[in-house]
Amino acid sequence: MPSILQVALDTPLHRLFDYRLPDSAGTVQPGSLVEVPFGRTRQVGIALGPVADSTVGADKLREVIRVLDDRPALSPDILRLAQFCADYYHYPLGAILLATLPPRLKNATPFVADTPWLVLTEAGQVAEPAARARAQRALLDALRAAPQPRETLRAQKQGRHAAALVAAGWAAWTSVPPPSAVAPRTAESPPATAGQQAALDALLPALGKFGVHLVHGVTGSGKTELYLRLIDAVLARGLQALVLIPEIALTPQLEQHFRRRFPGRRFATLHSGLAESARTENWLAAPDCDVLLGTRLSVFAPLSRLGLIVVDEEHDASFKQQDSLRYSARDVAIARGKQRGVPVVLGSATPSLESYAQAINGRYQLIELKQRAISQARLPAIELVDLKHIPVDNGLTRPALQVLTDTLARGEQSLVFLNRRGYAPALYCPSCGWVSPCPHCSGRLVLHRTSHRLKCHHCGLETRIPSECPGCGNPDLKPLGQGTQRLEETLTALLPAARIRRIDRDTMRPRAWAELGAAVHGGEIDLLVGTQMLAKGHDFPNMTLALILDTDGALYSPDFRATERLFAQLMQVAGRAGRADKPGRVLIQTAFPDHPLFRYLQRHDYSGYARALLAERKQLDLPPFTRQVLLRAEAPTMAAALAFLQRAAALAPATADVSVFAATPAPMARVANLERAQLLIQSAQRQALQAFVRDWRPQLDGIRPRVARWSLDVDPLVF
Ligand code: ADP
Ligand code: ZN
Ligand code: ZN
Repeated sequence: MPSILQVALDTPLHRLFDYRLPDSAGTVQPGSLVEVPFGRTRQVGIALGPVADSTVGADKLREVIRVLDDRPALSPDILRLAQFCADYYHYPLGAILLATLPPRLKNATPFVADTPWLVLTEAGQVAEPAARARAQRALLDALRAAPQPRETLRAQKQGRHAAALVAAGWAAWTSVPPPSAVAPRTAESPPATAGQQAALDALLPALGKFGVHLVHGVTGSGKTELYLRLIDAVLARGLQALVLIPEIALTPQLEQHFRRRFPGRRFATLHSGLAESARTENWLAAPDCDVLLGTRLSVFAPLSRLGLIVVDEEHDASFKQQDSLRYSARDVAIARGKQRGVPVVLGSATPSLESYAQAINGRYQLIELKQRAISQARLPAIELVDLKHIPVDNGLTRPALQVLTDTLARGEQSLVFLNRRGYAPALYCPSCGWVSPCPHCSGRLVLHRTSHRLKCHHCGLETRIPSECPGCGNPDLKPLGQGTQRLEETLTALLPAARIRRIDRDTMRPRAWAELGAAVHGGEIDLLVGTQMLAKGHDFPNMTLALILDTDGALYSPDFRATERLFAQLMQVAGRAGRADKPGRVLIQTAFPDHPLFRYLQRHDYSGYARALLAERKQLDLPPFTRQVLLRAEAPTMAAALAFLQRAAALAPATADVSVFAATPAPMARVANLERAQLLIQSAQRQALQAFVRDWRPQLDGIRPRVARWSLDVDPLVF
């Protein structure tokens, strides 16, 4: 009897595939990579295990071409985690498994690790090159201080000298610098604050078993220091820590901070900013590392001695993937913690209402840090500028300009927050009312002055700025509204002495953060202008003013999460002001100063507002009191998209506990020439909703006519 191997492949099909295993292959461990014939091509798949019998006739079974690795690429716990995701998100297991692998491992050729680091060998530590080999000497000295990356050496034309040192046995190329050679400046941990100590007293006994702990700590309360101490305890037990952080280029700073605190420990980072080869190497190094720091994709990293998972800024929207497998890394982290019997620590100054509700009802342990770590650092005063009574000029009011001027005069720094990049949200014709529509989307083309372009932020279309109105020929087109570029221009004109820097997705490259941090700390910048990117994790002691412009759109948005998001954002921005010995001040321009959100904000009362929002959600049967699944469809016409969803609704199993709403056009109805519609399914019981979708999903494949695309989004965050 031939042995049959079940294989998961990267296909949209919700099934696994059987292959005959040649005797020569021996036994294959689950999680191994195998190459198999698939249709007329070959694919790399994941071996799941032998099966006794196949529904495919023995004569039709095709044979495994080869087993790619003698050691399984995926460990049993990753297989189990992927199975959880397949069940919970109703997504094909094969596609999930292959997506957890770094790109290079999916090639049928074995991955050969690059060796990007030149390190000193033992012989090199005491070597004495000839006096005239000055360049070699210099390089040797540099290596004695720290390993050198190949790229830098190449850029400095040091390749020849490196080769000479390697030939002499004084240096060697490696893939990961050995910890002892990293030689970081070590940092002492400060004595814990009373709040940190109380949190540690609660958290340390929780190590070694599963539990979810929500650390709600005001900005500047020292959450990072708390994580570091917990990690310390985990490492002391010989275990690993996984630290998930939002998708933003703060990784290098945090990594540096962590490395200094744990000299001699092995670090790995995983984020989408890494080159493919680095990502593959770090992924391969993960099982042996002590701390893995990374963005949402790291939740699937192989970690054999996992002892703690930390999700920092757990409310951050970037933990949710918005395409293919629409998972929440925070929720998957909790699932992983549960499977592995490991505690999960969620941290935020503004927890998501989902997490906060679980903490209130006692399912998560709530740990609060109410004071800032640095005792003089007070929370800033928050003032409102009433736009109903005070006129704006180019987006700015007189009082706002006055405090900017005063702050500047005191030699302190400010930040001005406007959540719209570009020069102006649209270009406008005063004579016929044309407002730069995107030809492919229901949105407007955004005016980008610096690149002389109109750009669609939805489909990516870019065109030249027209010299006259395409509607009526009027040559006098005007920018409509404010974007960060225009604000920068206005501020430059009004405050000519100020050194201004703009921060948004158009100006920031991943590496630019470190330089920016240094420039702000070094006092080379007076004013930061930017989008929500500004709101995250920086700690600038001389920044005493945060000015917030135009956030009113969110106050009366149809999106029920808009106020939660805005509140979190404003709390975070406010948290940037006055973090050291100087008091901070926050000024918000709004036409709705009576909105309850501001009352809570002015008192820095996260929990009050969270409770008010939760009461509202409960009354309206909204998450977290109900669970939602969104079926999305895209088609060339809205009628086709809606018809698909109506068929889907008609196929819905009748269940008392689950509501199926009417199919509706999406809020952003057209993107890239496809009309988008959605169907909301909701239930107060997660189990009932899951059972419903399990029955329902297979039937969706059979709906005719098909649409261009459809997908299920479990626990959707955006509609
Ligand atoms: P959070 O992440 O909660 O906003 P951070 O971890 O960034 O806060 O800490 C805020 C500031 O307080 C940092 O400058 C940090 O170095 C400092 N800090 C944290 N813990 C302590 C402590 N125990 N003693 C003194 N300073 C501390
Ligand atoms: Zn016109
Ligand atoms: Zn578009």
